[in-house]
Amino acid sequence: MANWFSVRMRASLQQKHISGGEALVVKSAIAETVSALQQRAFSHSRGVPDTCHITVEAVTTPLVDVPLLAITDQAQPLQAMNTFIRQQGISDAAFTHAVALLRAPEQMRGAALIDAVTGERIDALDCRGVRVSRMTYDPSTLQAWRNKHAAYQGARIEEALLLASKVASASGIVGELCMSDDPEYTTGYFASAQSGYTRIHQMKPLGSECGGRVFFTQPDVSLQEVIHYLQRTPVRATSV
Ligand code: AMP
Repeated sequence: MANWFSVRMRASLQQKHISGGEALVVKSAIAETVSALQQRAFSHSRGVPDTCHITVEAVTTPLVDVPLLAITDQAQPLQAMNTFIRQQGISDAAFTHAVALLRAPEQMRGAALIDAVTGERIDALDCRGVRVSRMTYDPSTLQAWRNKHAAYQGARIEEALLLASKVASASGIVGELCMSDDPEYTTGYFASAQSGYTRIHQMKPLGSECGGRVFFTQPDVSLQEVIHYLQRTPVRATSV
């Protein structure tokens, strides 16, 4: 019998993406997780959905341990972060394309994959993008992280840090840029295995619904393998 279950939620209003969420939990936590995701879907500032799908799926492969990224807070807006992000192996073309995608009026519900050198988008998933799932925290790592980072506590940062840790552990990923699509939340981040998780303030004006995620890839990445890892491989973030 499976020990772990992937729980995923997707909510929309007349095809517009409202909210999504994912968790990797043990069987006894399925009911509370489904309830929490359902509540999230129906209390999002982007609107009240007319459709909400929640999927529960047994995970049949063992969890892979990945390092939890270190978090830093840079009180700088995105433009001031250009140099820092380019130092992480992201070309001008890739950075410019990513920012344009994150600011586009059509919202993504997943992430776009962009070649870190050429700046070309390499997935063909348009607004759907790649949705990362099947990640969880090692409980003692999460407790230690909470003790150390009282100021950052909350589901939003914990979930984003977990997602970023999985993405950074993927072979062929150079880094990630994220801007929340929540009109009331303007802090985003850049993350990579090399630089850790760096919060970026004032990434967009308050009230703006644009947002999304971009994963920058190495030129020789195997698209199929990286997407499979991000969507299907179950991982547990631990401190190393
Ligand atoms: P959020 O961090 O929930 O505000 O999401 C911001 C944007 O990131 C969304 O509009 C999606 O495009 C993208 N996103 C959210 N969750 C995921 C995920 N699990 N995998 C990939 N992209 C995601």
